Amino acid sequence: MGVYVHIPFCAQKCNYCDFHSVVVGDEESFSSVADNYLLSLRQEALYYRKIWGQEPLDTLFIGGGTPSLLPPDKLASFILFLREELPFVKHPEISMEANPHSLTAEGAKILKDVGVNRVSLGVQAFQDDLLLAIGRIHRSEEVGGSVLALREAGITNINLDLIFGLPGQTNEDWVKTLEAALELEPTHLSCYGLILEEGTPLTTWVNAGLVEVPGDDQQAVMYETTCRMLKAAGFEHYEISNFCLPGFRSQHNLLYWHNRSFIGLGSGATGYIQRLRYRNAADVDGFMETWNEGIPYYEESATVSIEQEMDETMMVGMRLLQGVEEEWFRNRYQVSYWELYRGAIEELLQRDLVEYKEGWLRVTPTGLLLENQVSSAFLR
Ligand code: SF4
Repeated sequence: MGVYVHIPFCAQKCNYCDFHSVVVGDEESFSSVADNYLLSLRQEALYYRKIWGQEPLDTLFIGGGTPSLLPPDKLASFILFLREELPFVKHPEISMEANPHSLTAEGAKILKDVGVNRVSLGVQAFQDDLLLAIGRIHRSEEVGGSVLALREAGITNINLDLIFGLPGQTNEDWVKTLEAALELEPTHLSCYGLILEEGTPLTTWVNAGLVEVPGDDQQAVMYETTCRMLKAAGFEHYEISNFCLPGFRSQHNLLYWHNRSFIGLGSGATGYIQRLRYRNAADVDGFMETWNEGIPYYEESATVSIEQEMDETMMVGMRLLQGVEEEWFRNRYQVSYWELYRGAIEELLQRDLVEYKEGWLRVTPTGLLLENQVSSAFLR
């Protein structure tokens, strides 16, 4: 179980992004917003401390937005606060997302000293024309320096986030990006296909015919290229979009794929505590105002029934290539998934989208490409 903290600040907005983040102003005004935001996060953490109880927390994930935009000493003191006030295990996995443009060598050292032991760098591509086309602020030459700074600070568990299917990107470009990424010897690679999210500038331009992006077939070729190249490089493909060297699976993300509880903190963050699933309103000012008064500001919150939780556990669990173990599910819910989903599973087996072997139900290579269909089959 773990804690997710959302830092909704970015230096500029990437044109494909629909994550909740606001563009920060000058250094002085951002410094005061950052102070107030971190103060509200502390209040929110104390609120959930009472509700959460003493269940040990194994992971902390600081995501965004761009957490590396925060002054490192302020972020470090907030991390120490969380570790003191919440029941973290002695050596939790502490991950943070960083942009190569704002991560500094000094910042990496400060964060390492308070326990940050995994960093996920938003790299996306190694061609500057592609980075420009999607509105990224960093340039490809900055990535190597960030990786070096992290290693020198003693942070060796490094993920690179990459995206395929970018405007004008060819399979050859993608191969070069993967090669450049592998050269930096990361422990983990997240490779996502571009999704045209509604309301983003990129989607508007594509719909207006101003920009072209690779189609589904081209994306499928890029995905197959990814699986082949990373396997050959010794990476384990353990989740649809995630690959790692042996022993380096993201413990925090596994928590989501196992549908476990977590405390979510911050504007726009989601959380799942004692079957209450909540989503904070994506409103930075509103977040700070309501926590001044000590109350949550939910956009939605609902208690999840045990039936719903079982469905969700199957849906997210099937994203893992190892699949879902029948015994594990039965121990957790005192019922076999065969009893609940026999019809759906048999249909998926017939269509060769899943296989059942030695007590594990998992996607086949065909099912991997049609994962949405596999997941939705478990929604009763
Ligand atoms: S840096 Fe990340 S969160 Fe910020 S706008 Fe770009 S993609 Fe979105």
